[in-house]
Amino acid sequence: MTDETRCPCGSGDTYQACCGRFHAGEAAPTAEALMRSRYSAYALSSTDPDQFAQYVYDTWAPETRPDLEDLRTPGLDWDRLTILSTTAGGPFDGEGTVEFVAQYHNDHGKRFRMHEVSDFRRENKRWFYVDGEVSD
Ligand SMILES: [Zn+2]
Repeated sequence: MTDETRCPCGSGDTYQACCGRFHAGEAAPTAEALMRSRYSAYALSSTDPDQFAQYVYDTWAPETRPDLEDLRTPGLDWDRLTILSTTAGGPFDGEGTVEFVAQYHNDHGKRFRMHEVSDFRRENKRWFYVDGEVSD
């Protein structure tokens, strides 16, 4: 990936200026920024499964996160992220929600759509994904 590559999260910014900073270790300032960077990690997981699985794991609240091994499974291609709404989740909040639709397809070209309202929590100046409620 070059510096000019557009970020997979669809922000319109380059990867380096967008989610790449958070994948490199910078703290995401808002719940939405963390959500985008986690989506981008999934979208990029085929390029470096270990690195991006680790990122998803590290940004998942300890009490709800799956085993790291379970996050290494590839197989889905992520096509588009649409953020529908957010509540709180700002630099001075302790909690926040992000409602989004993620579109993806499998190896056979079958398309899927995931609509979720995710809960996030901020601790030690870092946002964590806690859990989510899937809707239609
Ligand atoms: Zn991004």
